Amino acid sequence: MKDCNCIFCKIANGEIPSATLYEDDEFRVILDLNPAAKGHSLILPKEHYANLFEIPEDVLGRAAAVAKKVSGKLFTALHATGLNLVQNNGRSAGQTVFHFHLHMIPRYDDDNVKVGWVPGSLTEQDAKEIVSYFK
Ligand code: 5GP
Ligand code: ZN
Repeated sequence: MKDCNCIFCKIANGEIPSATLYEDDEFRVILDLNPAAKGHSLILPKEHYANLFEIPEDVLGRAAAVAKKVSGKLFTALHATGLNLVQNNGRSAGQTVFHFHLHMIPRYDDDNVKVGWVPGSLTEQDAKEIVSYFK
């Protein structure tokens, strides 16, 4: 299903032009308009899934295969020294476009890109509680 009000549906399906690095029946990979670093790209499924919780497992698996292929090429071509895969779900996690996408951010020595968090400390209580949900 496509969502006709969704900008990434329109870009993924070629209704809005984009700088495309890769395309197949299921995905389009584009350059981010506001790159964190040179080569920052987005993998967009052509079908509309709002986030990780909506995208089917098999589609996600194929998106990961595209990430491996395209990020490897980006890494080599742009002489990157690192690369982050980032995927945001929900406003609190920084998602601003509610169509699943996977960021590929090539990294360079001293590039000043911030992808991270301030490390906390795992409490015994949290560990017990969270592990219990998986039993
Ligand atoms: P999010 O914050 O949802 O994980 O990431 C959305 C990303 O999409 C941002 O990095 C933003 O710069 C990028 N973006 C938003 N609108 C457009 C657009 O119209 N074209 C392209 N190429 N990138 C976009
Ligand atoms: Zn969409």
